[in-house]
Amino acid sequence: MKVCVLGAGVAGMTSAYFLWRAGHEVTVIERNAGVGLETSYANGGQLSYSYVAPLAGPGVLPKLPPWLMRRDSPLRFSPRLDFFQWRFCVQFVLACTTAQSEETTARLLRLSFYSRRLMHEMVRNEQLDFDYVKNGKLVFYSDEAAYQGAVATMDYQRSLGCEQQALDRDGCVAIEPALSHIAHEIAGGIYTPSEDAGDCYHFCTSLERVMREGPNPVKFELDTQVTALVRSGNSIASVETNRHPVAADCYVVTLGTHSVFLLRPIGIDAPIYPLKGYSLTLPIENARAAPQVSITDHKRKVVYARLGEELRVAGLADITNYRADPDPARTDVLARQVRETFPRSVDFGHMKTWCGLRPATPKGTPVLGRTKYSNLLLNIGHGALGFTLACGCGKIVADLADGRAPGISLDGFTLR
Ligand SMILES: Cc1cc2nc3c(=O)[nH]c(=O)nc-3n(C[C@H](O)[C@H](O)[C@H](O)COP(=O)(O)OP(=O)(O)OC[C@H]3O[C@@H](n4cnc5c(N)ncnc54)[C@H](O)[C@@H]3O)c2cc1C
Repeated sequence: MKVCVLGAGVAGMTSAYFLWRAGHEVTVIERNAGVGLETSYANGGQLSYSYVAPLAGPGVLPKLPPWLMRRDSPLRFSPRLDFFQWRFCVQFVLACTTAQSEETTARLLRLSFYSRRLMHEMVRNEQLDFDYVKNGKLVFYSDEAAYQGAVATMDYQRSLGCEQQALDRDGCVAIEPALSHIAHEIAGGIYTPSEDAGDCYHFCTSLERVMREGPNPVKFELDTQVTALVRSGNSIASVETNRHPVAADCYVVTLGTHSVFLLRPIGIDAPIYPLKGYSLTLPIENARAAPQVSITDHKRKVVYARLGEELRVAGLADITNYRADPDPARTDVLARQVRETFPRSVDFGHMKTWCGLRPATPKGTPVLGRTKYSNLLLNIGHGALGFTLACGCGKIVADLADGRAPGISLDGFTLR
């Protein structure tokens, strides 16, 4: 079967990979000159299979007013005359209940554990070069109430299959000695030994190489902008691009945040809005002062991952618009936090800055699977977890394209 994958971010690349491994003739269409150059480029690098609780949770609502007043807050809102922005905000607030948050967490754990198994198989079976490490993750908390809340969540997550340990201050420093100089600020932490990390962009380029060099190679149409999906009755006949039309038997939409602009004209309303985030990539100068395990600073909502000889730092969520244009003030917020948390660990003189648009849904669940068009599949809306969930989501759409039942239930992930 001829399958056309629209978009070459991590969702598109893993979809193409599983379709290609299933023996299909795959074409990937991407508007950039290379793969993985948008939101999948310099993300936090966390393969965070056990930390999937959505941003929308009961603890978030009381924090919103102080967050929205502070310039350096992890969340910033720039109101616009945009129906979809306001709809996202209303639906987000409505999702901030304990019941919804627990339901979403259970659904995402099902998907993330499936993804972890497939990622481990892929790493075993393919020659991939993306600074992949199985180094575990420590989330540390600066206030006692937040720590106790995390311990309660850990008990809930244990019932769903997560293996995590609650650590006191000394336990946190024993796991990650680079935290020793801010030990007095740490109330406790949750350590998950089974978490991985890697460079998402190099993961995408490695997959591209594998798919180009293998038998029946995948065709990459780069520098090609998809402009429309052309309907014929209840199926898609072709896609229009700025170069030439492309026809296939099946189409998979993996265009991240921009999916909505091609889906709305054909009557599909996916509840996705961009949450702009930032990252820094810094060469490690003093290996002992930089973290070895992946770290989340819960209070500041910043993640740290060691990728080869560099430290990747990511965080912040701005509800603003569809442009991935960086605001230097927000980059400064992140840089200041690195200076405070891991001083003298990295070379700020060679800092690379980046921002990207998380394709977020109000509840935090991606949108997967079939649509009202018989040959159109979706793999979009992964928010802050696109790298973590990529393998599971890619395999799911490949199974659906083949008419096979997916490996896990899609309850909660499909468009109603
Ligand atoms: C700061 C930050 C930190 C993050 N940290 C993590 C993390 O630690 N772990 C994790 O799991 N996730 C993380 N994420 C989330 C993750 O990066 C995203 O969920 C993921 O990259 C989304 O992948 P995607 O393929 O859906 O989108 P994209 O990577 O944006 O890919 C979509 C592709 O479609 C192409 N495209 C769009 N429109 C068109 C068109 N009309 N024609 C042709 N091509 C088009 C784009 O050029 C792009 O290449 C983070 C995100 C951010 C912003």
